[in-house]
Amino acid sequence: MKICIDAGHYGKYNRSPVNGAYYESDMAWKLHLYLKAELEAYGVEVVTTRAKQAKDLSLMQRGQAAKGCDLFISVHSNACEDETADHPLACCTITGKADSIGQKLADAVAETMETKQKGRIRKKKGTYGNDWFTVLYGAASVGVPGVLMEHSFHTNRAAVDWLLVDANLRKLAAAEAKTIAEHYGLTKATAKPSAPAASAPDTATTSYRVRVTIDDLNIRTGPGTNYPTTGKFTGRGVFTIVETQGTWGRLKSGAGWISLNYATKI
Ligand SMILES: [Zn+2]
Repeated sequence: MKICIDAGHYGKYNRSPVNGAYYESDMAWKLHLYLKAELEAYGVEVVTTRAKQAKDLSLMQRGQAAKGCDLFISVHSNACEDETADHPLACCTITGKADSIGQKLADAVAETMETKQKGRIRKKKGTYGNDWFTVLYGAASVGVPGVLMEHSFHTNRAAVDWLLVDANLRKLAAAEAKTIAEHYGLTKATAKPSAPAASAPDTATTSYRVRVTIDDLNIRTGPGTNYPTTGKFTGRGVFTIVETQGTWGRLKSGAGWISLNYATKI
């Protein structure tokens, strides 16, 4: 199972008119990383469309990044004139192949966010008979069913206040990953992987320093997302790595391992 996750928008985009602390782009970035981690715990291979939040990429390219995947998900929150609108909306590729998982995801989001209205799906055709949503057109053009998930409305005060809480985004990610796992019959890997041989070519013991620029980088008990998190985060700063396995580094402090995908060697 391979899934491509796209964080809707980049930089500071779509500020909420009812709570200025909220930007859709910020929420989407956080949620898509939490969702990635939750899906990886089910053994799903996850690719994301952008390595950096501030990087822009065309809608078509973002959709086409799903090439070779079984599912494409684009993470968003919705907006409209009516401040009382409060429901998740799963926009699905017009092929209909994502309808079932789309409705289940919309239901899971409605239940987790306790939205006022039920979750629903939508399919919209463009002028030339393709998907109206360009990002979904991109995914469909490489043969991948896609869901553009609107996590209720950032024009609704209750929804925005809820989405601003990090712990709630983690809950959402867990609920969505569980829904996907159940739909595709995946189970969480419980067995601990055996330790790689000391002579593994991608193992290094020389130490070096890295800079972390995100607040919520998980520290894990081993080199991979299949190892549990310690419940602690590095925070921003410079850290010394004393052992490397693949894209994972062991912290000198003894606190555990971090993904080097979110760290820059200095
Ligand atoms: Zn959006």
